[in-house]
Amino acid sequence: MIKLKTKIRDIADFPQQGILFKDITPLVKDPASLRLAIAELIKPFKNSDITAVAGMEARGFIFGSLVAWELGVGFIPLRKPGKLPYDVQRVDYDLEYGTASLEAHIDAIERGDRILVIDDVLATGGTAKASCELIEQLNGEIVACAFVIELTDLKGREKITNYPIHSLIQY
Ligand code: AMP
Repeated sequence: MIKLKTKIRDIADFPQQGILFKDITPLVKDPASLRLAIAELIKPFKNSDITAVAGMEARGFIFGSLVAWELGVGFIPLRKPGKLPYDVQRVDYDLEYGTASLEAHIDAIERGDRILVIDDVLATGGTAKASCELIEQLNGEIVACAFVIELTDLKGREKITNYPIHSLIQY
């Protein structure tokens, strides 16, 4: 994981003052690091009978799609409002400043689907919690949530205690 850590770039005060942004673009640009990250993300779940992977817009799409490909299952995009063209289920959630929403198509999940949730960063956990709620509202079963990066000081884990959590790199 040290190799992966060297491929994550810190950007101070982005997108706003006081945030230390973890930029994963150097990691996904490097073929060996990208392969390693995907292999490590799926490692605990190879025999978990995952039937679909869900990823949050936008960086969850990058990792989530590749994880789905490796597991041989489909990918479900969880999107910001107004992007999905068909009927949607929506959850609203609180951010540090303001609110946000995520949407999924109402037919994105089959009853009993066993879902692995993937995103790049677990920070406060609000996004992951909302994603899990959305999936459960559509009758999916969450097998686990997996992240490339976990910002442990923000205690995101404590928001999603109902599910196993897997993270590759902790700060
Ligand atoms: P949160 O809901 O606070 O756990 O935030 C998670 C979402 O915001 C993820 O989709 C991340 O992509 C993004 N995010 C939050 N904090 C950071 C950070 N410091 N660096 C990069 N992305 C972040």
